[in-house]
Amino acid sequence: VELQHGKIFLESTPGEGSVFYFRMPFVKISDVEKENENIEGIDAEEEPGRGIKVLIVEDNPINQLLVIKVLQKRGYETTIAQNGKIAIEKYKNEDFDIILMDLQMPEVDGYEATKYIRRMGAEKAGIPIVAMTAHTIQGELEKCLAIGMNDYVSKPFSPDELKVKIQHLVGSKQKDEKSVLK
Ligand code: MN
Repeated sequence: VELQHGKIFLESTPGEGSVFYFRMPFVKISDVEKENENIEGIDAEEEPGRGIKVLIVEDNPINQLLVIKVLQKRGYETTIAQNGKIAIEKYKNEDFDIILMDLQMPEVDGYEATKYIRRMGAEKAGIPIVAMTAHTIQGELEKCLAIGMNDYVSKPFSPDELKVKIQHLVGSKQKDEKSVLK
């Protein structure tokens, strides 16, 4: 259950019995379908993501599918990494404009991957990183920001919220680079 980001509970009364139950976060397929309907109406001129390369670091296949669909329909270029270790390898060999980072993943989780990236060379270390959190654990968001993530979205996320946050972070980075050139 914990590997799937859920929680398990136990209530037990001596002599009477025990109840075990668990909670698991899932993206409903109907949400994926609704998003497909929403984005069919967007025409090619409204592609805020054109030319923006997004590295999506996520181990859950349904979440991967949802993020890819949302971003590709808005013109973003997407690359998937199944965990933090693969993400670091891909990022070493290729440049991206922003990273969307799941937190709980096998091998190397989102926290460790972020810490690693923030210690990379100057050209690489400054990339905007947005955490994708399945649930709001007390203190988790503070932890994300403390280790150097720029922002976060809660899953299942609102497509517009995700777009606004990406545009804000990528836009301000491009502005910084321009002011450095001057
Ligand atoms: Mn995960």
